[in-house]
Formats: sequence, C-alpha cells, structure tokens
Amino acid sequence: MFPPRGRHFFANPGPTNIPDSILLATAHASVDFNDPAFFAVYEAGRAGLRRVLRQEGGELFFYTASGHGAWDATLVNLFSPGDRLLMIASGYFSDAWAAMAARLGLVVETIAADPRRGAEIAAIEKALRADTKGTIRAVCAVHNETSTGLCLPLPAIRAAIDAARHPALFLVDTISSLGSFDFRMSEWGVDAAVGGSQKGLMLPAGMSFTAVSERAMAAHREAGLTRGYFDWTVMLGRPHKSFMGTVPVTFFYGLRESLRLIEEEGLENVFARHHRLAGAVRAAVRAWSGNHGPALYCLNPERLSDSVTTILMPDGFDAEAVRTIARERFNVSLGGGLGALGGKVFRIGHLGDLNEAMVMGTLAAVELSLQRAAIPHGTGALDAAVAALAV
Ligand code: PLP
Repeated sequence: MFPPRGRHFFANPGPTNIPDSILLATAHASVDFNDPAFFAVYEAGRAGLRRVLRQEGGELFFYTASGHGAWDATLVNLFSPGDRLLMIASGYFSDAWAAMAARLGLVVETIAADPRRGAEIAAIEKALRADTKGTIRAVCAVHNETSTGLCLPLPAIRAAIDAARHPALFLVDTISSLGSFDFRMSEWGVDAAVGGSQKGLMLPAGMSFTAVSERAMAAHREAGLTRGYFDWTVMLGRPHKSFMGTVPVTFFYGLRESLRLIEEEGLENVFARHHRLAGAVRAAVRAWSGNHGPALYCLNPERLSDSVTTILMPDGFDAEAVRTIARERFNVSLGGGLGALGGKVFRIGHLGDLNEAMVMGTLAAVELSLQRAAIPHGTGALDAAVAALAV
C-alpha cells in the first residue's frame, strides 16, 4: 500500500466539503463577542439563516453543539414530563431522536414505516384522529433520513395534521435537507425546525440551531422539563438571544461566507444543482443494480433524497469492503451503514459544495472498488451518470 496522493475525496453525507472561502473565513482571530463589529456579523448571519429556513416571525436559537444538542434543546424547551409525542419512524435518526425523548421522560409513540418506502401519510392522520382529546403534543419528522436516503413530504404531513384538526406542534429535523432541497418553515406550518452547520451550510460540525414559531414559543412558556444549558428563556435574556457562555465567533464568520455563497448561487439554483447531481448518482446505482448488484435502498421514487443516496449491497456481500477499498486505495470517503444497516449499505453524500466532476470522480472510485471487491454489478453506470448530467 502506498500513501494516498491527490486530494482526499469526501463523499460522506455530512459533514460535507467545506469550500476554501469558508475555511479561510473561519480562520479568524478571536474577537470580543460583544463587540459591535461582531454583532453586525452575527445579526446578518441570523437574518440570512432565517431566509434559508424561510422563517417569518418566531425565534432562532443557536447552540454550540452538534445536531444532537439541538434535538435535546428543542425537546426540553417545549415539553413537560410525560407529554406524548408522535414520532414518524424513518430510520436511525428518528429512532435516536425518539430514544432521547424517552430518556427525557416523554412518552413517544411511533408511526411505524417500511424504512425503504417511508411512512404512510394516512397512518399519521389516523393516529391523530384517534387522539380525540388532543393529548399528543407534537408530531416529529426527520425531513431527510440520512441513514436511508429517503425524504418525507412535509406539506402532506402538515395537511394530515390539519385534516385531523389536531393541535399538535409540528417538529422537523432539517439537518440533512436544509440548504440542499426545499424547506419552507412558515409556509409549511413547522413549529420547530432543527438544523446543523455541517451539511448543506458547508460549515464545520459543532453549531446547531432551532427555528421556533410563535406558537411553539407559547408552548415553551408552559413547558416543565428540567433545563440546564439549553434554556430559551435564559438565552432570550442574553445579548445574542442565543447561547449560554462564550459565543463561537468563528462559526459566524463562516456562516457569513456560507450565506454569501448560497445567495450568490440562489437558493433555487442550489436545489436544482442538488437534484441534478442526485439524479446522476441514482442513474449510476440503477446501472450497478443489474447483474444482482448493489441497488437503491429507497424504493419510493417520490421520496428519493437529493442529498444522500443509500446503496444496498447484494445479499452476502459486505458494504464495508467497498468502503475500505475506496478509502485506502482511492482516497475516497463514503458513508457507512448506520445501526441495523451496518455492513449492508454504503452511502454517497451529494450535498453541499459539490459539482459534476466531483460526483463523477466518486462514482468512478465506487465502480473501481466494486470491481476490486469482486461485488457483482451491472455495467454502464458512468455512462448513465454522464447521460443524466448531459441534459
Ligand atoms: N439528524 C439527522 C437527519 C442527521 O443526519 C444527523 C447527523 O448526521 C443528526 C440528526 C445528528 O446530528 P449530529 O451528528 O450533528 O449530532
């Protein structure tokens, strides 16, 4: 084995590639976080992120924490011990969010789902209609289940809540969708949107946030779970209306550049680029799936994620063998299977700072790795990807 040469190719579904201009922006000397010059950067970042979230009104709280911290913060600020939540099962991340809620003393009911197709919207409406006393406090959905590469139709879930005339709050994890495909907090009636820095926003991991509607802020004022580090009421009393303690200033220099890049390209164009690149990856996987090869894990064509593709190995073949060869021989990092999908799938992240050449390079390395690992697969994947990109 020789040492890898060339740039490390990072095709994980988060963290994602950080553009050089963001890296340079975050390489900022320390400043006093109460300095007016920093405040201007901070406020601009907050306003810009609200534009990406399409949030009108309400509040936006930042945390020095990864996405798990934002889940925690959102739960402890909105609920009281014993409150009922309806979690729409999607996979590893909905399970983890539900488990955290249970640890906090919440009662979590789950809308079961075929992980390869996603939950039935009718089942959500049915569960809410059955709750005639309106005791379910929130419906929770992971917009894009990063483990399976399947996204949920949020407007349809909102419509189901409305059709059942249910007062539940609507909580959404946008960690691997925000800035990659369409999300409209206010228009879709989302009450709390959880997001993170390290995916579509192309920033390092370590900062997360919750955008909160006015209605959820009213629920917060009644909420009784014990709060420590993450307390929105305490945060609102701080100059930045967020954070307890030191503000991670470098993130906000990075966020300023991230927003500049996103808004220079235009949010709609960012989404179109993600859709186009995702289409190329899917075309390649469909070709590989010939000859009993690796196939798309998501079987619902309307719910295929534009930010990550999860690829199911044929029975008896280990996804880790593909990932190891890709990493060690080709210097390409692919996502692995999470939880029960460990060894059964690998994942190609196609979100954030990415173009056609990077996607084609990744697909070529995957195909070489399939060959080296002697995994059966169909031919023509790279041609199919080029054809998808040529339109
Ligand atoms: N939710 C989703 C959809 C994710 O993809 C992730 C991480 O990949 C998380 C939550 C957890 O976020 P973090 O790893 O930043 O704590």
